[in-house]
This record gives sequence, C-alpha cells and structure tokens, in this order.
Amino acid sequence: MNKATLQLSPPNEPRTFGFYLDGAYVAAGDRELATRNSPGHGVPVTKTVKCTGDDVDAAVASARAAFEDRRWSGLGGAERAAVLLKTAEILRERAEEVAYWETLENGKPISQARAEVAGCVGMFEYASGLARSLHGDSFNNLGDGMFGIVTREPVGVVGVITPWNFPFLILCERVPYILASGNTMVAKPSEVTSVTTLMLAEIMTQAGLPDGVFNVVTGSGRSVGQALIDHMDVDMLSFTGSTAIGRAVVEAAGKSNFKKLGLELGGKNPQIVFADADLEDAADGVAFGIGFNTGQCCVSGSRLIVERSVADRFSQMVADKFAKVVVGDPLDEATQVGAITTDTQNDTIMGYIAKGQDEGARLVHGGEQLDFGRGQYIAPTLFADVTRDMAIAREEIFGPVLAVMPFDTVDEAIEIANDTEYGLAASVWTKNIDKALQVSRRVRAGRFWVNTTLSGGPELPIGGMKQSGWGREAGVYGVEEYTQVKSVHIEIGKRDPWIA
Ligand code: NAD
Repeated sequence: MNKATLQLSPPNEPRTFGFYLDGAYVAAGDRELATRNSPGHGVPVTKTVKCTGDDVDAAVASARAAFEDRRWSGLGGAERAAVLLKTAEILRERAEEVAYWETLENGKPISQARAEVAGCVGMFEYASGLARSLHGDSFNNLGDGMFGIVTREPVGVVGVITPWNFPFLILCERVPYILASGNTMVAKPSEVTSVTTLMLAEIMTQAGLPDGVFNVVTGSGRSVGQALIDHMDVDMLSFTGSTAIGRAVVEAAGKSNFKKLGLELGGKNPQIVFADADLEDAADGVAFGIGFNTGQCCVSGSRLIVERSVADRFSQMVADKFAKVVVGDPLDEATQVGAITTDTQNDTIMGYIAKGQDEGARLVHGGEQLDFGRGQYIAPTLFADVTRDMAIAREEIFGPVLAVMPFDTVDEAIEIANDTEYGLAASVWTKNIDKALQVSRRVRAGRFWVNTTLSGGPELPIGGMKQSGWGREAGVYGVEEYTQVKSVHIEIGKRDPWIA
C-alpha cells in the first residue's frame, strides 16, 4: 500500500489475524476472537485470537527450541545484523500499512504513526550495528599464569509485554536490541492494539529471521500475560505498562524462576519553566509535552512547575496553544491530537477532570469531551491553582490534563519536581546554563530534557528511576540489558599442584 492509493477511512469489514508461532500465522480454529473498535471511529477494525495457556506454552517452547539449537545465537553478529537491516528495509516499504493499522487500533494521528514507524526503522538500523560491535572484556593483568576474559551471552528466551499507547514504537525500542544479542522471544501486545506486533513478526520472517526466534501470543493480560510472567521457561521479561501490573510482574518472577526483569512503568513528569526561558518556545513545548498522543505517554509532561512571576501569563500562553491544536479524526492528515484509546481510559481521564474541580483546582482550558459524531475525544485541559496534595498533581492520569503549580526558588522547583513516587522523565526550560545544570543533576528522572521535551532516538537509553522501573532500553545500554556476562579464567602453562 502506498500513500497515494491509501484509503484513509476505516475498513468496511474488520480484518482477522491469527497469532504467530514458529515463523507462521496460526488461525484461530476454535479459539475465541476479540473484536477491536477503532477509538476514532467507533467501528470494528480488527479481530485477534484470545490465545490459551497451551498457546503460551507452545510459543515459549518454540522460542526455547530456537535458542537451544543456536539457529540464531550461533550466527555471527554480521549475519544477525543483515536480518535486522533487511527488517528495516521491508519496514520502510510497508510503513504506510503499519501506520494505518496502528492508527486504527490506537486512535493516534496518522501523521504521528508514520513518524513513529520511521523511528522504528532507525531502531533496527542502529541495533544492527550493535549486533556486530557487542563484546566483552579481557584481563591481561592477572600474572603470567592466568588470563581472564569476560564474555557477553544472550539471556535466553525473553518475554516482552507491551501497552496500548505506543504499540509499535515501544515494541521496536526492544525487539532489535533483544535480537541483536542473540536471544529468542515471545511478545504479548496489549489486547486492544495487537496487530502491528503481528505485522512485525511477518516482516521479520520475510527478512530471513529463522522460524521460532520471534513468536507472538495475543489475548488479555489476565490470562495470556499472566501465563508469560509465571512461566518457568522464560529467562527474562521486559514489561512496559502500569506500575500496578509491574508490581504483579515482580511478584510472579519471585514465585516462579526469578526471571530477570526489565520494567518501564508510569510517570508524573515535571516541566519546569523559569521566567528567563524563551516563553513562546516553552509554551509550545509544554503544550506538545502533554498534548502529544493525547497525553497517553509514560513520559507526558503532566505537571507544569512554573516560576511565580510569570505563572499566570505563561498558563494563559499554554491555554492559547491548546485552543489552536487540531483535535479530530486520526485518519485526517491535519489532525494533531487524536482519540482516547479505550473507553476505560476515557472514563478515567474524565473522572480526574471532575476530581480536579471538586478538589478546588481552577479549570483554565478544556475539561470537556469533544463530539465529532463518532469516537471518543477529550479537549486538552489546563488546571491552575493546583496544590501538591491534589490527585491531579500526584496520580498518573494518562490523558491531556496539565496541572500548574508555581514556585519561587530553584530549590523549591526541584523539591516539587521530586515530590512524586515516579522518576521517569523531566524537562527544564531556561536560558540560564547554571539553572539548567543544577536542575538536571538534582531531579530524579531517567530521561531529562533541556529546552525541549519528548525527544529521543535509538542512541540514548530509556528508563526510569524510583517507581518508574528497572533497567534501560535502547542504545548500547539497552542491548547490554539483554545479555549476561560470564567470566572465564584460563590457566597458562602448568598449574601449582594442590596436593604435593
Ligand atoms: P497495563 O499495565 O494495564 O497493561 C500493559 C500490558 O500488560 C498489556 O499488554 C496488558 O495486557 C498486560 N497485563 C495486564 N495485566 C497483566 C498481568 N496480570 N500479567 C501480565 N501482563 C498483564 O498498562 P496499559 O494500560 O496498557 O498502559 C498504560 C500504562 O503503561 C501507564 O501506566 C503508562 O505510564 C505505562 N507505560 C509506561 C511506559 C514506559 O516506558 N515507562 C511506556 C508506555 C506506557
């Protein structure tokens, strides 16, 4: 499908997908199907299989067999890199198709989905280099009788569980790095946004990935996800989602085989704006930071911590930006903010907006559901007079709702920023280098932006401090997470005997 011929409307009939095992789709057979309605249009667009516990076992067994016979880990880095590069090439060719289905299931604007797929191509290209450059260490300083080497080995069978907000991007921030180091995998996408994960499996088979290296099981978190985190034969699990389910993942690992974990969880991320910032630029950045992906980003800048002397003026500048943002049909090229991904999330966001008003915050902009005749949409919303104890200042809303809190000193700005159980991301807006550096050093967050927000790419790692998670994804740090090190001691010559 190319851009010119793309029919930018939902399909007439929902498309049915099997799950992916051993290099091929498996049809539903007598398993139940889940129907997904497009959140932007309210019509059914896809049907996916509700996999069973036996299907999870079969997928793990497939990944285990592929790992043990070394059909992937036994290849040279150059051969693995070739498959990752070919994946990037095919993904580039099929980008329009992937972006279309991502938009239909998730509700994000098509222009944004396209940009995300382009970013995913970059992840595969970058990780292909890592497949060739990944290496260990050596110790030539152990005396004439001993040589030490440290090797990096793949962890084994890796399970990946992803959320619905960036189904394809989050997947591609993990998969190429997991595969670069020689692991095999089972992916479990969110039950509401599964099909682009299945498409990636198909693309990788097309690119020459050996069968069984990448398997996909679809279905609910409660059954399929739980079976994966409990599984005794999964060596590592990368979980991205809510902090509550992250806790369940840690418990399951402790109760099963102590599988190694990577956790990327929630956030309540501060945007700190000093009076000396380029306020026009900052207002645009702050509006983007909470409006992008309808605020359904783990790294959304949902707390605006702004110097008191400009607080009212700056809040109004952000509200003016909100008024100009184009909210609407995700398949419309001009749309900047699309639909809310699920009914439940829509209710959660509207619930927080009501709570903010009940708790005495002042609604400056938005606060209402937008009616386009179909789908579910919420206007970008700004609350002033927010205090640190209010729910809208403390809890992750995962929607386009910004809570404004003023500060007077640098120390106070940092204290408010750190007054959260989370530590995922933060931004500072100032033209003063000293303030920028002080704040970036002292705010506890895994990602930090100065005079920008939400930027990223394959080179820099992603991850959180505090209750936002464990470990890092992407970059060299990301690929290393999916390896384990082995130390090898090699005796040179004859060893000193123990028994005389
Ligand atoms: P969620 O935790 O409800 O679900 C995430 C995934 O876990 C889904 O695939 C789901 O099916 C699965 N799951 C649910 N229950 C499970 C269980 N008992 N066992 C195993 N798997 C289970 O999260 P969500 O609603 O899909 O996504 C929103 C949350 O994800 C937000 O809190 C957000 O901050 C977080 N998130 C974090 C990042 C990050 O990188 N830190 C990125 C995106 C989203």
